[in-house]
Amino acid sequence: MHISRFPRLHFAHLPTPLEPLKNLSKLLGGPQLFIKRDDCTGLATGGNKTRKLEFLLGEALQKNADTIITQGATQSNHVRQTAAICSKLDLRCEILLEHRTGSKDPDYLENGNVLLDRLFGANILSVPAGTDMDAAMEETAAEIRKNGGNPYIIPGGGSSPTGALGYVNCAMELVGQANDRSLRIDHLVTATGSAGTQAGLLAGLEGTRSGIPVLGICVNADKETQEVKVFALAEKTAEFLGIPGSIKRESVVANGDYVGPGYGLSTDGMIEAVQLLAREEGILLDPVYSGKGMAGLIDLVRKGKYRKDENMVFLHTGGSAGLFAYRKTFTA
Ligand SMILES: *Cc1c(COP(=O)(O)O)cnc(C)c1O
Repeated sequence: MHISRFPRLHFAHLPTPLEPLKNLSKLLGGPQLFIKRDDCTGLATGGNKTRKLEFLLGEALQKNADTIITQGATQSNHVRQTAAICSKLDLRCEILLEHRTGSKDPDYLENGNVLLDRLFGANILSVPAGTDMDAAMEETAAEIRKNGGNPYIIPGGGSSPTGALGYVNCAMELVGQANDRSLRIDHLVTATGSAGTQAGLLAGLEGTRSGIPVLGICVNADKETQEVKVFALAEKTAEFLGIPGSIKRESVVANGDYVGPGYGLSTDGMIEAVQLLAREEGILLDPVYSGKGMAGLIDLVRKGKYRKDENMVFLHTGGSAGLFAYRKTFTA
């Protein structure tokens, strides 16, 4: 697959490392666990949105945009990475933050990613939970156009076919790394939210005929809702790539058992996963995505769903800046 046909900027630190999780593998008693370190993509504490932004900003600059508009939850990692790259590229950054969790904790409201958004000088508008975020972004765009600006809207999580190209690229990178070291990957596991990561991976893994299955652990939706969402975007991404109809519905697999009470709300499994990875591997997960993703992986391994001689890769999607917004969760 030849993704150089698409406009792209190069600011992510790639390739990200693929490392064994020796202590965790030993503690859980197999399968052999590995971690793909997309928490180390280099942009303002890193994370998965950086790969998507390489293609999204490539398209925005091709269209001569002078302002980027995007949206996310209060502690959005996507928003933080978007604000950072806008600073570097000297673009105006308009952010809409939806107060989805309803938390009144000052750490949640102002620390972590929000502190960083402000450092990058983004214009932030906070709106209540349930706001139609796409409509709100359109309103902001209309206002900017009226004043002679040229806005480019990035959907929540950067999850459009353009953004998903970042994870087509990641799939090719991962397959290359595995081939270089003769590592047979039997399972790839990642947290899934706005769906661009899993959709891009599916398109890239299918496009390379890798035969590697992907499991998405949901952070806000039930299994069926998430699979439908991922499938729709994976199909659009495959079409965009020039391989229409290549994604099979059965290859889209999500697990909704680890969401707990809702998006951004803590679970015991998440807390355990964050603590385990910190204490066993010196790796920081996050409370909203990678913590729940890893909680799912750990639980499924404990339930004996995988063989000891299998190799499993966890895609670490980043987000550790969010830990500072959840101080009470980890110090109680
Ligand atoms: C956005 C995000 C995800 C989910 O990725 P999607 O492409 O939105 O499904 C996972 N982990 C972290 C840390 C994120 O910020």
